[in-house]
Amino acid sequence: MKNRWNDDHATACGDDPLALRVYSSRLIGQESSLVLHGGGNTSVKATYRDIFSDGHEVLFIKGSGWDLATIETAGFAPVSLEALKRLAALDSLRDSEMVRAQRLALLDPQAPNPSVEAILHALIPFQFVDHSHADAVVTLCNTPDGENEIRSLYGERILFIPYVMPGFDLANSVVSLSRDCDWEKLDGMVLMGHGLFTFANDAKSSYSQMIDLVSQAEERIEAQRGTKTATAADEENRGEIPNLLTLAKIRRDVSKIAGAPFIAKPLLSSSCHRFASQPNAAATATRGPLTPDHVTRTKRIPLIIDDKAENTVEDYLTDYQNYFQTYTDGLLVQLDPAPRWAIWPEVGAVAFAPSLKEAEVIADIVEHTLEAITAAETFGGWAPLPPKEIFDVEYWELQQAKLQKSKTTPPHQGKVVVVSGAASGIGLACAQLLLSEGAVVAALDINPEVENLFTGVNSIGLTCDLTKPDQVNRAVAATVGHFGGIDTVISNAGLFTPSSFIEELEDDHWNNSLEINLTSAMRLIRASIPFLQLGIDPSIIIIGSKNVPAPGPGAAAYSVAKAGLNQLARVATLELASKGIRVNTVHPNAVFDTAIWTDDVLQSRAQHYGLTVEEYKTSNLLKREVTSMDVAQMVSAMAGPIFSRTTGAQVPLDGGTERIV
Ligand SMILES: [Zn+2]
Repeated sequence: MKNRWNDDHATACGDDPLALRVYSSRLIGQESSLVLHGGGNTSVKATYRDIFSDGHEVLFIKGSGWDLATIETAGFAPVSLEALKRLAALDSLRDSEMVRAQRLALLDPQAPNPSVEAILHALIPFQFVDHSHADAVVTLCNTPDGENEIRSLYGERILFIPYVMPGFDLANSVVSLSRDCDWEKLDGMVLMGHGLFTFANDAKSSYSQMIDLVSQAEERIEAQRGTKTATAADEENRGEIPNLLTLAKIRRDVSKIAGAPFIAKPLLSSSCHRFASQPNAAATATRGPLTPDHVTRTKRIPLIIDDKAENTVEDYLTDYQNYFQTYTDGLLVQLDPAPRWAIWPEVGAVAFAPSLKEAEVIADIVEHTLEAITAAETFGGWAPLPPKEIFDVEYWELQQAKLQKSKTTPPHQGKVVVVSGAASGIGLACAQLLLSEGAVVAALDINPEVENLFTGVNSIGLTCDLTKPDQVNRAVAATVGHFGGIDTVISNAGLFTPSSFIEELEDDHWNNSLEINLTSAMRLIRASIPFLQLGIDPSIIIIGSKNVPAPGPGAAAYSVAKAGLNQLARVATLELASKGIRVNTVHPNAVFDTAIWTDDVLQSRAQHYGLTVEEYKTSNLLKREVTSMDVAQMVSAMAGPIFSRTTGAQVPLDGGTERIV
């Protein structure tokens, strides 16, 4: 492992210990094989000056909610060192009491909650303390002869601590195990199944000892494994999803037992694929996690996908319930039992989470876990901590306390939405609104600009010509391949053909209108139905037109196509109800903030009726302008629980039209 220390950067911190602490903490945070997504913690003992300039001896310790990769001085909570040492001297302390006592001992009321490992940091008689969950060290721990591996590798350089759950009990156990040790002779401390501590009176030494000890573990693993470097062919050998319907079905079943919609993100990297292609992949991956620290994100074990078995997810649920019943004290509240990842034999892995952001965190943990399992297999087998230890962390009282706090989740969290014509106007507004409300969105448009508009983690922009059936099928497949399924289809793409009376109507305009306003919508719906029927509260939402109930002269091509679309929606309502798919239509009128209504067009239409532009925009019963966002709000309602008992509805969104009411 590379030592990233840079003397110039360190010198720039001056002699401020907290600035140096920030600097070297970030060095650790940059290395994903040391800490992942908020894991690990660091501290420095220093003097805190209060508003009266009085000095207090404190431990600046990483606060919860901060990530070492991006931590700032505000992320270090100043806790009275004396208070922490007094806490350490107690015989027993519940972790919730410890958290409260640590909060009380803060010198800054706005500081984040100090890490649960604060007492342990306070006990270590050095100014700088670094703690990581280094993959290589934990991998060696998780082998059949883990303790001997660690002891023979490091000898007297480290203090060996058998596994104890983080929190007060761990601090307590370090107190008794370190009673007769000479700290000056130690470079670090290995916590079995958990991670590594290093310490020194200067930031550079503490950090460098961390890198040295981890490098030693990495070299040990490499020597055991033999030098097998990945070839370019290996890199390209990614997994391929054999059956998108299986993926959608698994996602539905996982969401069902989670009690909320989950994304299912396929992980097909060459490393996941290689792992999943081993005959013993399912057996090894279900022995337990890399460290108990991961359990709140990944659950203890993954689901194993079996294309042929009907009840894969139900069996997982039964196993989880048995696991809970085995270890609960009878007072605990069972967490949602849904798996957070799966091994798909011969294919790769899948991450399950309510948001794509969380799915990506899980994906990182999975990559590191599979790497560790592969390495441990060369030492005689993957031997993680037993289920009881994992359970205790999963059901830690501090985790249970979090359950009591009510969380508000966005209304469309975890839903997968497809929007056609998403590069502008109503489609763009729908896609943006649903994204802001927690959905993930596949945004389709014939305009390739859509790929630049939707690049965020929660969306994909797909250039798609809806008049080409193979492109439509590809876009639908890409959506499922990316997010695991489809819950909502918003059929919005359409166009206005030039105004013309029937006697002058050109065939091209007529055909074009039918092709885009009607047939293209049918194609998108047709391709989506197999996945929608496996969706979560699935629905189709049609952007219709006021022209359906109230046509106007000179718009035959447009009105006829939209009327046909309306009839398609009605037939779809009848056909799809038994599959649980709702079909609802919104009929907007005069939505002027779209690409077709340029200032010139608006001006000339207003003039045509002898009105100002403002009067023209609000020429409805309510005298209110209708915007794209108003339509998007209606679509959001139709996609959600408000419309869960409604199908076949046609809702006008036009400020009121005399000819319709
Ligand atoms: Zn830790």
